[in-house]
Amino acid sequence: MQAKTKETIAAIERKLTAKGERFTAPRRQVMATLLDYDGTPKAYDIVEAMGDVKPMTVYRALDFLVAQGLAHRIESLNAYAPCVESHCAHKDSQYLICEKCEKVEELHNHAIDDFIAKQLLKDGFKIEAKVIEIHGLCSDCT
Ligand SMILES: [Zn+2]
Ligand SMILES: [Zn+2]
Repeated sequence: MQAKTKETIAAIERKLTAKGERFTAPRRQVMATLLDYDGTPKAYDIVEAMGDVKPMTVYRALDFLVAQGLAHRIESLNAYAPCVESHCAHKDSQYLICEKCEKVEELHNHAIDDFIAKQLLKDGFKIEAKVIEIHGLCSDCT
């Protein structure tokens, strides 16, 4: 585990404990693997990186982390990205996905979501799910 990851894990633990949630060993390990991972892993990449673990344990830990806003599921990659910023409830997110290094950057441009919501409301369309994932090359890869 990288030093920065260790710090982040400790901070998450404090936050979860304050909320009355348990940061169990598998949850901690999955979060650490997400943070240390080079790129954006699929669930089975995490299972593989952790080695001696049941896939079901990893899936359950991922569900927990996503529910807590500590990770996001990137639909178009079928993969997971860690999220340690405490931004506005993780809604109205847009994801920039690098095709080369598979790093995911999260944006929070409310104007984009406001525009979509207003436009669709006008058209009588009710939104149930919304995914904004933009593929391209990040500044390190161009
Ligand atoms: Zn987020
Ligand atoms: Zn890149």
